[in-house]
Amino acid sequence: MHAMVLKKLKADLEWTDLADPQPGAGEIRVKVVACGVCRTDLHVVDGELPDPKVPIIPGHEIVGRIDVVGAGVDGLRVGERVGIPWLGHTCGVCPYCLGGKENLCDRPVFTGYTRDGGFATSMIADARFAFPLGEVGSDVALAPLLCAGLIGWRSLVIAGDGKKLGLYGFGAAAHIVAQVAKWQARSVFAFTRPGDVATQAFAMGLGATWAGDSDKMPPESLDAAIIFATLGDLVPLALKAVRKGGRVVCAGIHMSDIPSFPYQLLWEERQLVSVANLTRQDGIDFLHLAPEIGIVTETTRYPLNQANQALADLRDGRFEGAAVLVP
Ligand SMILES: [Zn+2]
Ligand SMILES: [Zn+2]
Repeated sequence: MHAMVLKKLKADLEWTDLADPQPGAGEIRVKVVACGVCRTDLHVVDGELPDPKVPIIPGHEIVGRIDVVGAGVDGLRVGERVGIPWLGHTCGVCPYCLGGKENLCDRPVFTGYTRDGGFATSMIADARFAFPLGEVGSDVALAPLLCAGLIGWRSLVIAGDGKKLGLYGFGAAAHIVAQVAKWQARSVFAFTRPGDVATQAFAMGLGATWAGDSDKMPPESLDAAIIFATLGDLVPLALKAVRKGGRVVCAGIHMSDIPSFPYQLLWEERQLVSVANLTRQDGIDFLHLAPEIGIVTETTRYPLNQANQALADLRDGRFEGAAVLVP
């Protein structure tokens, strides 16, 4: 198999030939046909997340076909199209797993971070954490749903059912969430990097009610806001933009420090929460709804061996929507 491997933190990924991996009991081998590039991959490469496995093959928005089924795997067959998400394994016995919050598992394994992911032609997954995808939709179009879509969905649910929703950072996740929110008859207020008129136009094209600079206040106060961008400075701005009792959801795995702010911004029962990872139930719920919503993902394709370019373009905001690697 071939893979783009991170051999050292803060370095380029290296094109590497590796022996074909063999699935153990309870695992499947997946021939990767598309893998989305997520901001979390940048955090892994940049060494911003604790205790990564190094060397590591990043990538956790994987669409592939099963080509080997390990012992003891039920309900999946060779040739079936599956999606492999960020949550790669959970312990099943900690209080969080037992309490229906496996996203907070004490001993989780994450695809493309603590186990090898999908920037490769082949990968091994725990069969219990693979989602059957059926045959509707193209491989490339589906890939961003596996993280941007899933985390976006979880964030939207946690944001509550307010009608006026702010989205800070209009990248892969927000462009999917905006479509879901519109389908739910909500109004979307899109906040981008100041002066990024191209992304503001992109948001308006997806049905946003308003789009503007993230350092500006929206024309009316919001019921909830989700922050997908990694800038802690956005937290007080978002708190200021939501109404009394409104909720601000931080959806990223990493954020720069949040500056101190007057208590007045939190007062009147405003809430500030974070969203971590996903549960398998999130995946089942969202992937079931996605075709009904008719989500159309905006994707830019890169050959697998151009993963470094895709990461650089993501870092610099050089495309709208999501980048997808194709082996
Ligand atoms: Zn657990
Ligand atoms: Zn991700």
